[in-house]
Amino acid sequence: MADEPRNVIVVGGGPAGLTAAIYAARANLEPLVIEGFAAGGQLMTTTDVENYPGFPDGVQGPELMQMFRAQATRFGAEVLTVDATKLDLSRRPFTVWTGEGEHTARAIILSTGASAKWLGIESETRLRGFGVSSCATCDGFFFKDKEMVVVGGGDTAMEEALFLTRMASKVTVVHRRDEFRASQIMAQRVLDNPAIDVRWNAVVDEVLGERAVEGVQVRDVRTDELEVIPAAAMFVAIGHTPNTDLLTGQVALDEAGYVLTDGTRTNVEGVFACGDVQDTVYRQAITAAGSGCEAAIDAERWLEEVAHEATAAAAAV
Ligand code: NDP
Repeated sequence: MADEPRNVIVVGGGPAGLTAAIYAARANLEPLVIEGFAAGGQLMTTTDVENYPGFPDGVQGPELMQMFRAQATRFGAEVLTVDATKLDLSRRPFTVWTGEGEHTARAIILSTGASAKWLGIESETRLRGFGVSSCATCDGFFFKDKEMVVVGGGDTAMEEALFLTRMASKVTVVHRRDEFRASQIMAQRVLDNPAIDVRWNAVVDEVLGERAVEGVQVRDVRTDELEVIPAAAMFVAIGHTPNTDLLTGQVALDEAGYVLTDGTRTNVEGVFACGDVQDTVYRQAITAAGSGCEAAIDAERWLEEVAHEATAAAAAV
């Protein structure tokens, strides 16, 4: 059986969800956060975070998320470390199921995030956080003046390669086909940049190095020829997958599966979304946190409106 309807349930406990929880808790909405077993989101697999304002000396990703969480619970947010397994957003109050029971709420904030896609080879997994990364903005600076590899041929790969030229001694883009998927303008910028080399028709065979990246071995898909590209870092930019399996058929999603939002409002009244689950452009902890704040304020105002309308309707009877 579900407990009494809450004001707000936040589904997802990364920077967006926990910021939404801080704001909702401080608005006395007593939010419940279903943070999931992958609590903390993508920052949990990051080592140093040097671009989160307020930490001039940097902060470890997991430590930062622990601080977000402590701040949310300090103001009365309740956090459950379980996965949401099912949602019913078709009627109010909305229902969220976990393996341990069901919870209902007048408003829902979706912040289930996105996951970077990885190549899936052993050496990539082993060296993740030690030179293998999915975020140039976050980690490029650690490899200043070194050679770097970017894998992928879409706009993200182009953007990362161009960004990395500001700090790398050389950038090599490795792409599996003979033309980029990226928009013409971004692709042209990469091709015109003398600090960037491109290996066409190439896939990563192995990331070399024991405790740090020392090079990337690539294979030409036409000839099977192997080549080692010297590099201190490899940035995998082959796309992200929004964590929206649970949301299919519940809220409007775009073609790639991201939640469609107007501000933080979804197409379902009373359901808001924030962070990477609805952001294909910025994908930063700070932007996720910012949108989490917006979602909580939007939810609070919406709850207020609904309560006001209910009071007015009762008075009119
Ligand atoms: P995309 O899906 O557009 O591109 C992914 C790239 O990775 C493709 O080139 C693909 O190759 C390659 N790839 C996928 N899987 C593998 C694999 N297993 N091994 C090797 N290569 C692989 O993702 P993006 O993240 O680049 O972009 C996502 C969306 O966000 C796009 O709509 C993009 O336009 C948008 N975006 C816009 C930006 C902007 O406007 N400034 C910046 C960044 C993103 P293949 O081409 O062969 O399929």
